Amino acid sequence: MTATLLDGKAMAQTIRAEIAEQTAQFTQEAGITPCLAAVLVGDDPASQVYVRGKQKACKAAGMRSELFTPPASTTTEELLALVERLNNDRAVHGILVQLPLPETIDALRVLDAVRPEKDVDAFHPHNVGLISQGRPRFLPCTPYGIQQLLVRTGIEIAGKDVVVLGRSDIVGKPMTLMLAQKAPGANATVTLAHSRTQNLPEVCRRADILIVAIGRAKFLTADMVKPGAVVVDVGINRTETGLVGDVDFDAVCEIAGYITPVPGGVGPLTITMLLKNTLTAAKLQNQ
Ligand code: NAP
Repeated sequence: MTATLLDGKAMAQTIRAEIAEQTAQFTQEAGITPCLAAVLVGDDPASQVYVRGKQKACKAAGMRSELFTPPASTTTEELLALVERLNNDRAVHGILVQLPLPETIDALRVLDAVRPEKDVDAFHPHNVGLISQGRPRFLPCTPYGIQQLLVRTGIEIAGKDVVVLGRSDIVGKPMTLMLAQKAPGANATVTLAHSRTQNLPEVCRRADILIVAIGRAKFLTADMVKPGAVVVDVGINRTETGLVGDVDFDAVCEIAGYITPVPGGVGPLTITMLLKNTLTAAKLQNQ
């Protein structure tokens, strides 16, 4: 068997076109251009690439973006003051603090300071609580993109066994919560696996849908995949041979039913859902 490719890049283009249309309509009706403020601390090259990509995507969707670049030597207090300024700026609808922050910064304090209504990454405890209760204000961008990819491809989620590998606050945990909800595009039986999970290959082989987010190059091998399973590779690992995911792509292709490539799978959808959340934020703040 050769798996069908889940083309995240193509789907991202479709969704971005929809968002651009919705943005144009909102701007025309409300007289407001949605604006995302990005805070990029220091000069990490990978973060600079990510933030530039997000700004470009905003522009293409008809949104404004603002970039703030405090130096790596900035203090937690200075960063909190910047976040407060953006919280109070009525022309800014979404605030994105690019991670990772330098170790000298109290990242949790900074993220918690973002006003929940402008928290387009859905990191704030208030927003995480709403997701947990099944009444989200925003959905975190990467899990949101993965859910859209599955739903729009027509992959049945309800009643399926899903294994999420990796329990980060950004991907694994919210993904688990979202797919287990009693809601459309969910209703799965979800297992959250991690580095302490016993018999991991056996656990993974139970999955109809396997979502891998651990940051270990080519970790998920073919013997861990049920024939015909849907495999979503979230990992981004820079190796000597280039960018690779957490899945041993070539071998798993031979056994899976569907698979996402790296790059061109989950990544483009993550930025897309950030745009969606920024538009949602602008609409909410206009009510
Ligand atoms: P993370 O914070 O790096 O945490 C890694 C998770 O994987 C932890 O829960 C860890 O378990 C688990 N893990 C590590 N080694 C394992 C092993 N050998 N067996 C089982 N579980 C293991 O996670 P993250 O931030 O979600 O990032 C994961 C990957 O996704 C990275 O490559 C990142 O670059 C990528 N990513 C991509 C996107 C995108 O848009 N495509 C977005 C976000 C992240 P413990 O909790 O037990 O330590």
